[in-house]
Amino acid sequence: MADGRAVLRIDLAAARANWRLFAGLAPEAGATVKADAYGLGADRLAPAFEAEGCRTFFVAQVQEGAALRALLHADCAIYVYNGPAGGDHYLYSDHALRPVLNSPEQIAAWRDGGGGACALHIDTGMNRLGLSADEARDLAATGHGLDLRLVMSHLACADDPDNAMTARQLADFKALSALFPGVPRSLSNSAGALTGPDYQFDLTRPGVGLYGGQPRSTPCPDLKPVVRIAAPVIRLRTLKQGEAIGYGAAFTAPQDMKVAIVALGYADGFLRASWPGGYGLLDGARAPLVGRVSMDLAAVDVTGLDAAPGAMVEFLGPALEDTARAAGTISYEFLTRLGARFERVYAE
Ligand SMILES: *Cc1c(COP(=O)(O)O)cnc(C)c1O
Repeated sequence: MADGRAVLRIDLAAARANWRLFAGLAPEAGATVKADAYGLGADRLAPAFEAEGCRTFFVAQVQEGAALRALLHADCAIYVYNGPAGGDHYLYSDHALRPVLNSPEQIAAWRDGGGGACALHIDTGMNRLGLSADEARDLAATGHGLDLRLVMSHLACADDPDNAMTARQLADFKALSALFPGVPRSLSNSAGALTGPDYQFDLTRPGVGLYGGQPRSTPCPDLKPVVRIAAPVIRLRTLKQGEAIGYGAAFTAPQDMKVAIVALGYADGFLRASWPGGYGLLDGARAPLVGRVSMDLAAVDVTGLDAAPGAMVEFLGPALEDTARAAGTISYEFLTRLGARFERVYAE
């Protein structure tokens, strides 16, 4: 610590508490740990969820699954959302992974490779992966012979409580999953799981909520922030009224200001578009970004605050959603872009 770098602090206890929240809502909660647990480190997060009782994990790619297998006990199931590519069956069998079958071609490839435990994805309106309703009916009618352990679909709009598409997808999922009686069912990501009891089915697949992102536009106060950046103040300066700061001289001080220059930039994955609108926190007080975020540095307004070189300005944490919104994106993208240059600290 205190080596001049920004610190990325990942609160494992908060992530575990967030998983318990989802586990309390559903018969079973899994954990989506794709993209290296949304950039936070699947090697630390996945075992933390397992220690809380999680036994079902989801990744996007078979390579992610192979790496995850080495971290978990054999009784954990690992599903691969993107499904088999054909020719990669050995990776599934070598690492005891289960593919999610998303198309007639993937079903054929899985059978050709010898089959095995798998999930079936049925599309209900996302129009990304999954069998169409007709394809699902055809499969059910032909005595599919697959070792189905899960039938799932994916919600497109559950972040928006007012969107009628979510209830429509629920109705379609009930009807189409009934084509595969006796197979456990899963519909919900984090947002769906927070939508209500109808959305739990047998298993949920939360991701972003585990990592402290707010899955819905109506925030869930029980989800705890997991990710905090602490960026050291390298120097303070006074900006006189009318003086500009940073590249493009894009911000001009409307009055005299005290500004802190911190060691955090877009090379760390702190998105350049976070200004205007983004802010840090100094001892809990807002310190708005001023001027363009540069590669290695950012400036925050600390007028009236007690700042000194070496002080740490906090970013993300409870401000994750606000910062992502200022950058024109969502917490998911902010998290998965956090870079390798931080000192990473995992707090139990
Ligand atoms: C990523 C993903 C999830 C997890 O979504 P969150 O919104 O992060 O909770 C669940 N299901 C599928 C199919 C996914 O691709």
